[in-house]
Amino acid sequence: MGFTIIPLCKQCGYQTKAIAVGGGKLNHLTQCGAPAFNIESNEIEQVNLYDCTSSEIVKQRFLYFFYRNVTVVKTDDRYIPYYEPKMFVDDKKIGSHNWSGKYYKKSKNFCPKCKSFNLDFLNGGVYFD
Ligand SMILES: [Zn+2]
Repeated sequence: MGFTIIPLCKQCGYQTKAIAVGGGKLNHLTQCGAPAFNIESNEIEQVNLYDCTSSEIVKQRFLYFFYRNVTVVKTDDRYIPYYEPKMFVDDKKIGSHNWSGKYYKKSKNFCPKCKSFNLDFLNGGVYFD
């Protein structure tokens, strides 16, 4: 069951339409919505994590002699999802919106307009299941 969040900056008033996080019962295998910063348009947009990320297997060395395969998730270069640590101030007192292991801070997120960490993700409610 997905939910929506509404980005709102307390400093400059920047706001976007509600962003759907996660997916529903029928489409959760192909749809996983998430808020992301579009570095080309300088806006926060809803992206589908299945479309803008890809997994890549890389060899990682361990114990000096051995190598193991490690899966690395790569993200489309134009988008930075808001679960990336550089997109928020990691204040433990601030709660987060969670979806399948991804955490979105309820406040102190990066605002693309005034470049400060004053953006809240307001609870937009549950609207699909
Ligand atoms: Zn702002």
